[in-house]
Amino acid sequence: MSDRRIGVYICHCGGNISDYVDVDRVVKAVCDEPGVVVARTAVFTCSDAAQQEIIQDIKEQNLDGLVVASCSPKLHLYTFRDVARRAGLNPYQYTQVNIREQCSWAHTGDREGATEKAIRLVRAGIARTNLTEPLQPVKIDTVPGVLIIGAGIAGLRAAIGLADIGICVYLVERAPVVGGWVARFGKMYPHGKKGRELIDQLLDEVKKRESITLFTNAEVVEKSGSMGDFHVRIRIKEPAESDIGVRVGAIIVATGFDPYQPREGEYGYGLEGVMTLAAFQELLDNSGGRLVYNGREIKDVVYIYCVGSRQGTDMENANRYCSRYCCNATVHAANLAFEKNPEIHQFHLFRDMRTYGRFELLYREALKRGATFLKFDASEPPRVEQGGNGKLKVTVKDLLTSGEEFEIRADVVVLATGMVPKKNGKLVDILKLPVGRDGFFNEIHPKLRPVETVVDGVFICGACQGPKNSSESVASALAAVAQSASILKKGYVELEPLIAAVDPQLCTWCGVCAQACPYSAIEQEQYRGREVARVNEAVCKGCGGCVPTCSRDALNLRGYTGAQIKSMIDALVKEIC
Ligand code: SF4
Ligand code: SF4
Repeated sequence: MSDRRIGVYICHCGGNISDYVDVDRVVKAVCDEPGVVVARTAVFTCSDAAQQEIIQDIKEQNLDGLVVASCSPKLHLYTFRDVARRAGLNPYQYTQVNIREQCSWAHTGDREGATEKAIRLVRAGIARTNLTEPLQPVKIDTVPGVLIIGAGIAGLRAAIGLADIGICVYLVERAPVVGGWVARFGKMYPHGKKGRELIDQLLDEVKKRESITLFTNAEVVEKSGSMGDFHVRIRIKEPAESDIGVRVGAIIVATGFDPYQPREGEYGYGLEGVMTLAAFQELLDNSGGRLVYNGREIKDVVYIYCVGSRQGTDMENANRYCSRYCCNATVHAANLAFEKNPEIHQFHLFRDMRTYGRFELLYREALKRGATFLKFDASEPPRVEQGGNGKLKVTVKDLLTSGEEFEIRADVVVLATGMVPKKNGKLVDILKLPVGRDGFFNEIHPKLRPVETVVDGVFICGACQGPKNSSESVASALAAVAQSASILKKGYVELEPLIAAVDPQLCTWCGVCAQACPYSAIEQEQYRGREVARVNEAVCKGCGGCVPTCSRDALNLRGYTGAQIKSMIDALVKEIC
């Protein structure tokens, strides 16, 4: 028996769930569970109309618990917590049950089994909800400062943005100079300015702002605390090595990318005249009049695209992603080469031409000026060999002429190399940042929360989260500015209350839990004349790692107490009629 009043909503997800799970049967199986007073289905629970219906039910039926069985909590936990809040129900009396990723999508060939699993999962959610209590967020006062790691175009722009809204900034750059890779770029599209000029312009602005402290030749070596109040140690390597400690409310990571370094022999790399796009851009930038390589005028150029990007599964540690900027950058470089020598012959060997948006104009311009585009298949990549007389010989099968084979003599072969993640191992350990399979930092949600990470108060921007061009990097930097300012400007942050709590009556301070906590959230304190453990609420992440280590059962996780977990297990194994 239960005196709770719980509403249960089972989502079709427009067929994503109901094509594989009999959602009506789930409703029937759970409608008489203890505490349930409303149980129904909805085609899209997350739609405005369905949310309104839930709000109405909560108010009219006086519900004190809510269960939505739909997709992953990663997607809609906050949506439905907000539904509860808007209806006047404590959001922590809501439970999301995942019957899509963990059920319908995982068992597409077994409707009966998937339906039974959904029933068990929903029952477990109801059991947990029966034992929920209203919880209040943990409120932390915020320090009005931000640490930015990386002073490339994204980091510099973010620093200026934050300073302009009155937030103090510590900008830390590992290299001796600021600017990252952009500082080495030549003329950029569409404004025609050199990368160095852009960086110098930003650096001038940084220098004008007293609230920005820039450290070069420096790195972050330690971080403690939590969103709103991080304590960070920065190691400055020059003139003499020294450490300083700073307190900030948020951290922005803008460490950028590294260019792909071709392997020896990859598309002839290592042969005289085979170079990366970056090296060719430098050559363009440094040549005064006509284009010259090794004392000889360049008359024929071959560009090979997708080098180090979109690699096949047969390769170990393949870079499967498209680097996004190299098609544009290569066509742009080719147009600059036309400016140096309108007679030059340029051959673009591509897999797919991805000059999106306004970059399409660059492609059109290259075509108009006489560039030749040949499309090759990834399974039959172009071959690059020495061709005699100081020339290179490139052989390619062109799909646009039904696989005709062409042999091109070139003075230089330019490899359109993509972006790879920077080696950030130490920083990953210090910040505990998640890294994706591709090696770039991971945001929480690519569309809805594109600069937030799972570590509260730590944001990512620029090419450290995936290949981006410089405008996209700056746009994401400004998004990180807005996000960090939104938590700091209020003066306080509210953290999840689903964290560990110690019962001081039971604790005898053995210290085992403190050792188990990966976030150093457990401290020692005096309680009625004896030592006990205390959870620092600002630091605890609610991972639950400490709970099973306590032999005295003195620890519990709010919202997932021992009693709640046990009730969920009982519900999961209950017979299905
Ligand atoms: S709530 Fe989730 S499962 Fe339901 S429709 Fe929306 S996305 Fe799909
Ligand atoms: S729940 Fe996790 S983060 Fe919190 S005190 Fe326990 S081990 Fe540490």
